[in-house]
Amino acid sequence: MSAHRLVEKGYRVAVMEMGRRWRPEDFPRTSWSIHRWFWRPKLGLRGFFNMRLFRRATIFHGCAVGGGSITYANTLLRPPDKVWDMGSWAGLADWKSEMPRHYDTACRMLGVVQNRILGPADNLLKRAAESLGVGHTFYRTSVAVFQPPEGESGGNTFPDPYFNGEGPERTTCVGCGGCIMGCRYGAKNSLDVNYLYLAEKHGARVFPETKVVGVRPLAGASDGCAGYEVETVRSTAWIRHNRRRFTCRGIVFAASALGTMELLFKLKENGSLPAISDQLGKHVRTNSESLVGLRIPGYTEDLSKGIAIGCGIYIDEHTHVEPVRYPSGSDTMMFLTTLLTGGQPGPMRIALWMKNLVVSLLRHPLKTLRLFRPSGWARESIILLCMQALEGHIDMRWERPWFWPWRKWLVSRGERIPTFIPQANRFAEQFAQLAGGTAMSMLPEILFNVPGTAHCVGGCIMADSRDHGVVDYSNRVFGYKNMYVCDGSMVAANLGVNPSLTITALAERAMSFISPAACTAWNDAAEGSGERSCESTAATRSG
Ligand SMILES: Cc1cc2nc3c(=O)[nH]c(=O)nc-3n(C[C@H](O)[C@H](O)[C@H](O)COP(=O)(O)OP(=O)(O)OC[C@H]3O[C@@H](n4cnc5c(N)ncnc54)[C@H](O)[C@@H]3O)c2cc1C
Ligand code: SF4
Repeated sequence: MSAHRLVEKGYRVAVMEMGRRWRPEDFPRTSWSIHRWFWRPKLGLRGFFNMRLFRRATIFHGCAVGGGSITYANTLLRPPDKVWDMGSWAGLADWKSEMPRHYDTACRMLGVVQNRILGPADNLLKRAAESLGVGHTFYRTSVAVFQPPEGESGGNTFPDPYFNGEGPERTTCVGCGGCIMGCRYGAKNSLDVNYLYLAEKHGARVFPETKVVGVRPLAGASDGCAGYEVETVRSTAWIRHNRRRFTCRGIVFAASALGTMELLFKLKENGSLPAISDQLGKHVRTNSESLVGLRIPGYTEDLSKGIAIGCGIYIDEHTHVEPVRYPSGSDTMMFLTTLLTGGQPGPMRIALWMKNLVVSLLRHPLKTLRLFRPSGWARESIILLCMQALEGHIDMRWERPWFWPWRKWLVSRGERIPTFIPQANRFAEQFAQLAGGTAMSMLPEILFNVPGTAHCVGGCIMADSRDHGVVDYSNRVFGYKNMYVCDGSMVAANLGVNPSLTITALAERAMSFISPAACTAWNDAAEGSGERSCESTAATRSG
């Protein structure tokens, strides 16, 4: 996103991305193509989806030219206004009056529309919500998808419908439910077909499979006012890493919450960027998320059809539920699901889960075995993504774990966040009963007492000073000049909705403050020490 706005302002821009570039026809048909889905290049897996296990959370994230948008479910929602009064960004700007225009810009760029394609899973959720008295909260999601006109089938290709013909041609959505596996039809508005496409068209250079491993200020100016040297390696190489060095005057970190934290920890520790705030890694949030679900063996309709997340409901004031689907044949998620189990986290919950399993096997042996049959899982299952906009966070640190003391890693610390949301479990049970299915939990949540999230944010949060955060109210890194963080790590509150639209809108806002290249003084700094130039100075100062 930032690349496009910087190119527009006349800067020469290079985008370093450790993931691969993808074309629609290269995406895997199902999740069984592990090597084209998962990202673990050292094991020969060169996909776009990554899963990192920490003691406090299992974090799912994307890795590709286009970032997480390649694997996300393209649900782009605005959070409730109350999130701007929570966390360390409260009071830093008049968010409620400033943000709507940046959300509008982000929505226009990403082609966000209300979902018109409701699949069987959406209709089932709607009926369950109505039966349970929360039918009025049902809504169709806002999605970044090129949809066919009402009543028409998808799969038709049109010249660019979004950017007055400047963008690539697009094909209308067929409702295959495959968004999370990458859209093989060219209907999903991932960043590579809007922001990045336009940035490249106007001169930005994208370096795929290029991992940034070093950033240090140039020519002895320790605050970066003379620019930076960026060191990269080839991320997919086993032997020849093709180490390269680039120089630049300014730098935008946009490597996701985990990626930016990891890189900045390394750079702070090795002395390249020692002035990064000690708040790095603090206040990492998981959207207070929990994944439950249900499987309805033998269900007559195909629950994998529709858009990955086509609708949502609120089961109470704080708890937001969205039905998520995988495309037909993507049944590997079955291995992560099991019978729904509540109870106290820890050994007691594991014991309760085993008891549930044994009782179910004894009472309904065939029915239970059908629940754990991989074949047909995606067609018969609905995952319920439950999120809460409530306070709660963990911390990340850069430490040597006891099991691998030779090098430092990102490790999670702090108070445990709840592994499940009791209201969500209750809802899953009631939903399953109404639909004639069985409610399911995520197995790692029960076995390891670790919640899973695809929405990790924070760690370089916005704050009023380096004592409370890593970046200021316009994303400038405390302690350095012409250095910004524009990704999920800046987010300073649990949003309670999927975060990508907010990340994009905040990045739009940050870029709106940057001077055009022709009149930049290259001394943009946080904490009011930087002299802003041209008209953006006024914009920044007024917040
Ligand atoms: C399965 C799934 C479904 C999701 N669905 C939704 C959804 O429907 N709606 C929503 O709002 N959000 C969704 N998300 C979350 C969303 O993808 C992320 O919140 C969002 O992409 C984060 O944006 P970001 O700018 O912080 O970083 P990202 O989009 O993650 O981009 C960071 C990029 O930086 C690269 N990188 C990292 N380190 C380095 C390095 N050292 N050198 C070079 N490159 C590096 C990574 O490869 C990655 O491509 C989903 C996530 C997953 C995993
Ligand atoms: S539902 Fe299928 S066609 Fe539509 S955006 Fe998702 S992957 Fe593409």
